[in-house]
Amino acid sequence: MNILTNQTSATGSDALGEIRTLFERNVVPSYARFDLAFCRGKGSYLWDVNGKRYLDFAGGIAVCCLGHAHPEIAEVIAAQARELVHVSNLYYHALQGRLASELVRLIGPGKVFFCNSGAEANEGLFKLARKFGHEEGRFEILTAYNSFHGRTLAGIAATGQDKVKKGFGPMVHGFRHVPFNDLDAMRNAISPATVAIMVEGIQGEGGVNPATAQYLLGLRKLCDEFNLLLLMDEVQCGHFRTGRFHSYQRILEEAGHAGNTVPDSPGGSFIPDGVSMAKSLGNGFPIGAFWVRDKYADLLGPGTHATTYGGGPLGCAVALKVLEIIERDSLAANARALGAWLKNELANLVESHPRVLKAVRGMGLMIGVELAEKEKIPAFSAVDKPASAQFAARLNEAGVLTVPAGPQVVRLLPALNLQQNEAEEGLDIIASVVRQLAT
Ligand SMILES: *Cc1c(COP(=O)(O)O)cnc(C)c1O
Repeated sequence: MNILTNQTSATGSDALGEIRTLFERNVVPSYARFDLAFCRGKGSYLWDVNGKRYLDFAGGIAVCCLGHAHPEIAEVIAAQARELVHVSNLYYHALQGRLASELVRLIGPGKVFFCNSGAEANEGLFKLARKFGHEEGRFEILTAYNSFHGRTLAGIAATGQDKVKKGFGPMVHGFRHVPFNDLDAMRNAISPATVAIMVEGIQGEGGVNPATAQYLLGLRKLCDEFNLLLLMDEVQCGHFRTGRFHSYQRILEEAGHAGNTVPDSPGGSFIPDGVSMAKSLGNGFPIGAFWVRDKYADLLGPGTHATTYGGGPLGCAVALKVLEIIERDSLAANARALGAWLKNELANLVESHPRVLKAVRGMGLMIGVELAEKEKIPAFSAVDKPASAQFAARLNEAGVLTVPAGPQVVRLLPALNLQQNEAEEGLDIIASVVRQLAT
């Protein structure tokens, strides 16, 4: 290994082995990785160290919304790096103010706090909720089963899945879970200590489960009735992935409601009290944020919350450019149209291969393909790995990258600038793997 050139001495098939050895010796083994090492990307394609090309429907887990090596993103990173990378939050700089005002324009009247990841954005919302309820002694936050809210201590306490908590007790106090899309369960769970509800618009890690419009509107009413904060985790499903800036806007639009265009108007309009963001916000440059509604926007006063890197000039310059490109190139409309096409084609595939596929769910370019029970798929039943991981591994082999979501679902989270011919290529590969499994 030549550290200066970042090149392994081996080429071809040894390159992966060498990289893997470096990991085995030096990297904390907290991830179950696929046996793939990538070195280059362009748009929706990635190349591994052996030179094999893949169509990327994983998008770095809903992060690379403009694909890989976007020339304008490369340019803004280089240009901003020559100008100013970091100053800390001891000072003002124009880019953080401009990015905050763009996010306020897209979400609604309120203010924004910048951080570096999704877990940190949620952590900020948890602190906001505790501050909100502090004087009345309220602190409890209700979340849904199968949710995912990040891997910090509060994040795993908030996440409604036992597997992320195992071995890390005692859990941070004050989180309880109820079944998703079940308004009665949420109402019944509210206690005198409850201060907030947090849900994803579309559960990502939990298997691509969209909230219903009635659920969101009902949660809004519950929060108004009990004086709770309604917190939306849009870390994965947000940033135009569904065809609207945030998934709840698309869900409500679908049901004939305005989304969040008319805050506080009775009879259906919807605006949350807090929204967390990360993943696609920086197209791979690490940046997170939370938005808080105007009436609570000054709860976190000077000295109450901070992070050194948050909202630095470089991250904000990138995030502003991402938003500019998405709007200029009408990528929300593209995500909506290509997502609808893909979902429809996948639904046909489900119908023609019920022994392999069970269902397809999602909105825009956040699509979940649910597999049939493992026992029904002979190629999978013999191997001690979830069907989703086995399916994703076969898709990798066939040249398309996807992301497992739980044991039964594989997610498609491609770039928002995916092209029709790329969507067709990906679908053909998926169909051929499904046909293979059906025989
Ligand atoms: C990925 C994710 C997070 C955590 O984001 P990190 O950047 O990994 O900390 C939180 N919530 C949801 C819904 C996510 O998908």
